[in-house]
Amino acid sequence: MNYPVDSIREDFPILKRMVNNKPLVYFDNGATSQTPIPVIEAMNRVYYEFNSNIHRGVHTLSNLGTEAFEGVRRKVAAFINARHSHEVIFTKGTTESINLVAYSYGEACILEGDEVIISGMEHHSNIVPWHLLQSRKGITLKVIPVLEDGSLDMEAYKQLLSPRTKLVAVTHISNVLGTINPVKEITAEAHKHGVPVLIDGAQAIHHEMVDVQELDCDFYVFSSHKMYGPTGTGVLYGKEKWLDKMPPWQGGGEMIKTVTLETSTFNELPFKFEAGTPDYVGVIGLGAAIDYIEGIGREVIRRYEGDLYAYAFDRLSAVEDIRIYGTAPVRGSLVSFLLGNIHPFDTGMLLDKMGIAVRTGHHCAQPLMDRFAIPGTVRASFALYNTREEVDILVAALAKVRQLFG
Ligand code: PMP
Repeated sequence: MNYPVDSIREDFPILKRMVNNKPLVYFDNGATSQTPIPVIEAMNRVYYEFNSNIHRGVHTLSNLGTEAFEGVRRKVAAFINARHSHEVIFTKGTTESINLVAYSYGEACILEGDEVIISGMEHHSNIVPWHLLQSRKGITLKVIPVLEDGSLDMEAYKQLLSPRTKLVAVTHISNVLGTINPVKEITAEAHKHGVPVLIDGAQAIHHEMVDVQELDCDFYVFSSHKMYGPTGTGVLYGKEKWLDKMPPWQGGGEMIKTVTLETSTFNELPFKFEAGTPDYVGVIGLGAAIDYIEGIGREVIRRYEGDLYAYAFDRLSAVEDIRIYGTAPVRGSLVSFLLGNIHPFDTGMLLDKMGIAVRTGHHCAQPLMDRFAIPGTVRASFALYNTREEVDILVAALAKVRQLFG
């Protein structure tokens, strides 16, 4: 495959560093991806050239900042093919985006006794906000079961939808199993019942071609730091018709139209949901990350990563004593496994000694660990700069881990 991985790796200075005297092999991209020079430089440029609070000023620096920030909103809208840029709300990340919906949509559209459907493979950030809503409003949480191969039980899902269902909230790609869920089908099914759908795109936005109009989802959420952008920034996409119905969830500057000591009126979309000074430097970094991805080409990246994933899955499957979790027909981007009876933490610590960064533990998905009756897994997750050689290093290192544990 003609993919310029060597020059791409040059864009990520951190990939040159040593860890425990070994060249770093970074396979913890599912937790956070590394940041290329153009993104770091875009953020530095703000501080060097036009740092100033946005939206409020009449002066040049403030206007430059506002233009750059609002330009990224349009860029994000184009990236996910949103109908309007005011359907893009900037948040701290996936977690805050889901909490915003749980609070605000929960206030506007959910009553005691109503039901929210999630799946058994959700990250805690798509479980706990619904627990909070449960204690606030007395809703019932229903859960789509996860099958043995790590796919969702779609027949069970159809049975869960009821006249009391007010929202379906599911992950696009599982951060533990790598399952790519049929989110378009899930959405179409919910819409038959007039139920809106939230998709957690934290693990998908940088791997899949996300088109919110094609998916027809009502909310789509993601974080910048998993897509080569900075931490502290993320997106809530919501259809205008829902966002218009939803009350603000935080009060403060920017989100108001008028304030007296007695009462306030609220700003229009998207500002209604962006109280206070936003992380404009981070948002500008996110814009640079989108440019970086588009510069290589999303389809090009998808094909390269697909090939790398297939290679990694095959090579890891051949490791003696390995048990891979997540064998659904459609999956990608990461491999979760256990090695014999070795605790995932021990495997992770030994791999770190060999310069390899993987994530170990429950991956913020404890219910899924309970489903498979395991304490955790070792997870190797891939990004656009990883290589087959790095996969080979991991495979060789796992053989050493086995030897060390006899
Ligand atoms: N959902 C999924 C599927 C994730 O993988 C993660 C991050 N591991 C999150 C939500 C939470 O993202 P953040 O911490 O950036 O809010």
